Amino acid sequence: SEPYLRIPPWLRVKIPCNKTYAATTELVKDLNLNTVCQSAKCPNMFECFTSHTATFLIMGNTCTRNCAFCNISNDPVEKLDTEEPARVAEAAKRLGLKHVVITSVTRDDLLDGGAEHFAKTIRAVRAMLPDCSIEVLIPDFQGSKTSLQMVIDAKPDIINHNVETPPLHYDAIRPQADYEQSLTLLKRVKEAGCRSKSGLMVGLGETDEEVRGVIDDLAAIDCDIVTIGQYMRPSRHHPEVKRYVHPDVFEEYATYGKSKGIKHMFSAPLVRSSYNAAMFADDSEAA
Ligand code: SF4
Ligand code: SF4
Repeated sequence: SEPYLRIPPWLRVKIPCNKTYAATTELVKDLNLNTVCQSAKCPNMFECFTSHTATFLIMGNTCTRNCAFCNISNDPVEKLDTEEPARVAEAAKRLGLKHVVITSVTRDDLLDGGAEHFAKTIRAVRAMLPDCSIEVLIPDFQGSKTSLQMVIDAKPDIINHNVETPPLHYDAIRPQADYEQSLTLLKRVKEAGCRSKSGLMVGLGETDEEVRGVIDDLAAIDCDIVTIGQYMRPSRHHPEVKRYVHPDVFEEYATYGKSKGIKHMFSAPLVRSSYNAAMFADDSEAA
């Protein structure tokens, strides 16, 4: 059998144990919520929690899809919990969040793909915490314009939708998705006057040239924020890491993106889709 690639030093992070961290974990459990931070054992948890950012996973923790890189199982999905939007708002308040990221599993089983539930969650957080910025990381809603519009109408500050990987790798990595459909969604977000954000992982077999190709596509639809991070294998049942991209190369991606006109490029090994989201959520377009 092939030897695994060694994890390079820049990816080794210790999660310090402190009060904020413990309190956050406790509260989230208490309110019967899921965070991506915890279920993905995100290496940035300490930093994000202490800077008052967390990512809530709504509509259950089982998915109707089966992306190769993802650790969420596609067991039968749960019934929608109508109290969940209020509990997310409550958690955001008790955690003193300044920026909340709301994401979900993909609910292809629901007629609207869960768009209404997203909208309700946005409105609940907004009502509870008018000054908290809200970012939603949404599924593709199978291309439904109506579903996307429901989310846009709830007026989140940022709509994020990840393309995840270059188009040639969709069959292997994101089989139920469609690259063009994802780009169209992001384009519509901008056309509606909302800030758009997308991202991808590297280390799944793509080349640097393909990464630049994705950046070109995102620049062409005027995407405001792009995140690029290293893929880490969640378990041995997931695809192997094909390469560990050096931090210098991540910087080159960022430089390239900026040269193409993307305002905010977050590209580094530990960058995750919601990492440091609060940092640029409220910077004004006029600045
Ligand atoms: Fe949570 Fe995202 Fe921060 Fe990770 S990067 S801890 S998922 S908010
Ligand atoms: Fe995971 Fe999202 Fe794919 Fe579902 S759609 S398997 S939650 S990455």
